[in-house]
Amino acid sequence: MRKCALVTGSSRGIGRAVAIQLAREGWPVCINYIQHRDAAENLVRQLRSEGYSAIAIQADVADRQAVNAMVAAAETQLGPVELLVNNAGVAGQALFQDVTDEMWDRYMGVNLGGARNTIQAVLPHMLSEKRGCIVNVSSMWGLRGASCEVTYSCTKAALIALTRSLALELAPSHIRVNCVAPGVINTDMVQVLGQDVLDELAVQTPLGRLGTPEDIAHAVSFFASEKASFITGQVLTADGGFIV
Ligand code: NAP
Repeated sequence: MRKCALVTGSSRGIGRAVAIQLAREGWPVCINYIQHRDAAENLVRQLRSEGYSAIAIQADVADRQAVNAMVAAAETQLGPVELLVNNAGVAGQALFQDVTDEMWDRYMGVNLGGARNTIQAVLPHMLSEKRGCIVNVSSMWGLRGASCEVTYSCTKAALIALTRSLALELAPSHIRVNCVAPGVINTDMVQVLGQDVLDELAVQTPLGRLGTPEDIAHAVSFFASEKASFITGQVLTADGGFIV
């Protein structure tokens, strides 16, 4: 039967690793991006050259109409979305008193509103088939406070609440909703911290290193697999022991 996986924000970083992992596990994948078209199209080329099915679609996940159009295009080209990975996210640091309305609204709009938009776009098919799997990418900062990242932490904590509540609501329809909470993962997102801070964060991580995008892809892959068929509403922290 035709079906596909949609991974938001998969032109780079964690989402890219998730898309590669899922493609290698047999999922036709829709790669979503907002800006880096070349990166997304290169990934599509790479996956197709390996014999996998992939397309790339530009959409700002904060824009409901763009998300609806992306899901419609993915379903036409690849098949209904049966696996949704809400990974697209924005982050940045600011003292709370300096947080502007624009920053607050944008972070909420992308990190939390993006998940709302994509889930509501894919649900009609999942509900009619009574099957589907949703994995939200939160952060360990959604479980623990982060100084100068109040806005980001709020969005990521909200994603955890979304995961738990929606898991209960959708369980009777056999749709599972889970969440991965990464620690510090070595992607473009954290380069703004500078190498000295990243080295210090690696030292502070009990397993002694930063995470890789593949570390998170493995956690997402587990939730997406049959091995997790009795697991819903859960948060899997993949952080090298940072917040134990
Ligand atoms: P990244 O390297 O900055 O990549 C972000 C990805 O999201 C890119 O593919 C980007 O597309 C896409 N994106 C950004 N805004 C978007 C929007 N409005 N609509 C659609 N796509 C959008 O980030 P990352 O480190 O891989 O992080 C991925 C997720 O993991 C995020 O939700 C982040 O909060 C979470 N996370 C990361 C860490 C970490 O340490 N890296 C830790 C915990 C949680 P373009 O390429 O087109 O810009």
